[in-house]
Amino acid sequence: MSRSSTTLAEERPPAPREPAAPALPRLLSGIPAHGGALSLDEHLDIHGGLPPIGDRPAQRRRHAPSELIGRIERAGLRGRGGAGFPTATKLHAVAAARRRSIVVINAAEGEPASHKDRTLCRLLPHLMLDGGQLAAQAVGADELIVCVCESAAASVEAVAAAIAERSGLAGAPARVRLSVVPGGYVAGQESALVNYLNGGPALPTFTPPMPFEQGVRRRPTLVSNAETFAHIALIGRHGSQWFRELGTTSQPGSALVTLTGPVANPGVYEIEYGASLSALLQAAGGTTSRPRAALLGGYAGAWVEGQLLGGVALSDEHLAPHGASLGAGVVALLSADACPVAETARVARWLSAESAGQCGPCLNGLDALAATVQEVASGTAQGNAGKRIARLAALVQRRGACAHPDGAVRFVLSALETFSAAFADHARHGACDACASPAELPLPVRSSAGAERRRGVGSAS
Ligand code: SF4
Repeated sequence: MSRSSTTLAEERPPAPREPAAPALPRLLSGIPAHGGALSLDEHLDIHGGLPPIGDRPAQRRRHAPSELIGRIERAGLRGRGGAGFPTATKLHAVAAARRRSIVVINAAEGEPASHKDRTLCRLLPHLMLDGGQLAAQAVGADELIVCVCESAAASVEAVAAAIAERSGLAGAPARVRLSVVPGGYVAGQESALVNYLNGGPALPTFTPPMPFEQGVRRRPTLVSNAETFAHIALIGRHGSQWFRELGTTSQPGSALVTLTGPVANPGVYEIEYGASLSALLQAAGGTTSRPRAALLGGYAGAWVEGQLLGGVALSDEHLAPHGASLGAGVVALLSADACPVAETARVARWLSAESAGQCGPCLNGLDALAATVQEVASGTAQGNAGKRIARLAALVQRRGACAHPDGAVRFVLSALETFSAAFADHARHGACDACASPAELPLPVRSSAGAERRRGVGSAS
């Protein structure tokens, strides 16, 4: 695919990209037909061994700059857990501590609408582990911990098997272990994982200190998302220019996206940043009914109305005018048959229940917010519910130890704006016919290895 001529100085984002399939898949290369994980031999056949890129311990002792971190910086890789923080900045911070450090691969994936990290663990664990080892070498870590959610049984199994398979592999700088972490929306936050690995509950803690300063066992700790490490593995092998051959100038590369809702083949797809949503839907076999709207970025994300979806491209610069971003790569379509007010009330209730209950504004504010949305949905709200929601939102935002309340408020306010007519209608007349339709937005159910295996994977550009 040719590179975009867009520059950072441009005010308007470039037009959506048209498909150029030969460049993809990258991350999802070589998914075996048997539906299980790619073995170490198969992985090495496709990608080759870990590249020697000059971050050997002797060089580190001389405090030579890391070649890998330089490559990641030039590639412009950003974290794929949702916040989009520059990956090289994190690595630099841990490396600069010049103490024995620890690398944590975060595959906890608490976002119920996302399945990309568990897909990587279940099918392509070696790519992620390669990235972890390369990062460990670059920052001077001798321990690599992979955190996988306990609800993702097939992923846990695949990662454990992959770690065992690699035990004889020469040249790995860090010993590896798997940590099975409790499920929960906030359990995958960086500070929650560090707290859990230090023997505490999997709940966020107030920062500073940041994990890169004082993390697991008080050592400098690099925590990054599973997909981020898979990209590191490929950048280590192919370099920054190769990485930038896909994507936009400000958001280079490819990304994993979880597509749910009324499409023929929901699942995890690899896209080029800047690809059109239409191309993704086409790759998924098309829609099965007219989408009323799409939730982008997950339950801390924002809605885009159905009539605008034809012109949407999947990169943060394209989505910014809609007040949205790709976050952890979630595209959740809502069908025209669903009631957006009932869906918002259901998810808001769940988000409120996911509060870790340790910050007052989050615990009480989200509960009151969810209750008010439910009153609107059922037509029992007294007075001006819209004003009450806005007041509660202001009370909750930026008042927690973590970003959970901010994300929950963003989700509710975006729904109020996008579906304003439906909310007004419910406030006046109560539940509509569509309120009785089956729920569409995914919320956690007791997962099984079988259910995980049935989810599809593919690529679109
Ligand atoms: S803001 Fe909410 S979810 Fe985050 S730590 Fe505080 S109580 Fe827990």
